[in-house]
Amino acid sequence: MTILVLGGAGYIGSHTAYELIDRGEDVVIVDNLETGFLQAVHPKARFYQGDIRNRSFIDSVFEKEKIDAVIHFAANSLVGESMVNPLKYYDNNLCGTKVLLESMVAHDIDKIVFSSTAATYGEPERVPILETDRTEPTNTYGETKLSMEKMFHWTGKAHNLRYVSLRYFNACGAHKSGLIGEAHNPESHLVPLILQVPNGQREAISIFGEDYDTTDGTCVRDYIHVTDLAQAHIRAVDYLVKGNESSIFNLGNGIGFTVKEVIEAARKVTGDPIKTVIVPRRAGDPAKLIASSEKARTILGWKPEHADLEEIIASAWNWHKNHPNGFAK
Ligand code: UDP
Repeated sequence: MTILVLGGAGYIGSHTAYELIDRGEDVVIVDNLETGFLQAVHPKARFYQGDIRNRSFIDSVFEKEKIDAVIHFAANSLVGESMVNPLKYYDNNLCGTKVLLESMVAHDIDKIVFSSTAATYGEPERVPILETDRTEPTNTYGETKLSMEKMFHWTGKAHNLRYVSLRYFNACGAHKSGLIGEAHNPESHLVPLILQVPNGQREAISIFGEDYDTTDGTCVRDYIHVTDLAQAHIRAVDYLVKGNESSIFNLGNGIGFTVKEVIEAARKVTGDPIKTVIVPRRAGDPAKLIASSEKARTILGWKPEHADLEEIIASAWNWHKNHPNGFAK
């Protein structure tokens, strides 16, 4: 199969491209390199630099390549930024997807796997969260991802296009080769920020609030290895290729860890005491987010292979200690 990975120079996109190529698939990558890195593009992939909002560019890719299915990661994904600059998120995430879908429909490409997020739920009604639970995003990022899901739904009905939306929980970890890993600028995610302490780039890790209704007062999240996420995308493509109907799946381990537990695991992995400082809560952070991934397990046959938190952090550490500045020289 020839798979087009949009945003394949980004964190989860690059890991998915690596797994696809490992399985012997033919991979085409499109990325505007606004937040992605050329060094993260797999050397065996055919790479086109460009923006999905540019109709003639995306048309030209579909004309040059015979694409069997699209995996779509090309979006902005920082919660904080989405609250300060919401229209950037509407423009890139929603307008970009609209142009992409117009081009897909025009070229009769009828299968797309889409990276969605737990942020579509907002403050959960209960944990573990089911796909059928209420979706009421508390930030622009989650809102645009939910709107993208709806765009796929209605476009799919009108144009015979099928989609799988994968709602991830907290992606972390890095590829086993040590060649690619997480690199955001600025970094805002917990695991890479913690690892900046043993890397000598940060004095201490800030804990955002210690007064939540959880076992130790810090927020609980469901941390999932990026390679497991990548595998789920491949299973989702297979699911659509077999002719199955459009669907939405959560992806998480189904186990929650507090911020303090994550820091403790990082101490074990790195052997560093990792200093902490308690700071006020971060606005918009729900106390607990844990996925029920039963649907993905049952229907996609997906099973996380790297669910152990220390293993996840060890893989992230293997990347960060050798690439303290990410892909930058
Ligand atoms: N967090 C923290 N300190 C930081 C960064 C994050 O205490 O410097 C907490 C944050 O409040 C949340 C968890 O770590 O409870 C995971 O945050 P992250 O931004 O990695 O992912 P999110 O859950 O927001 O998608």
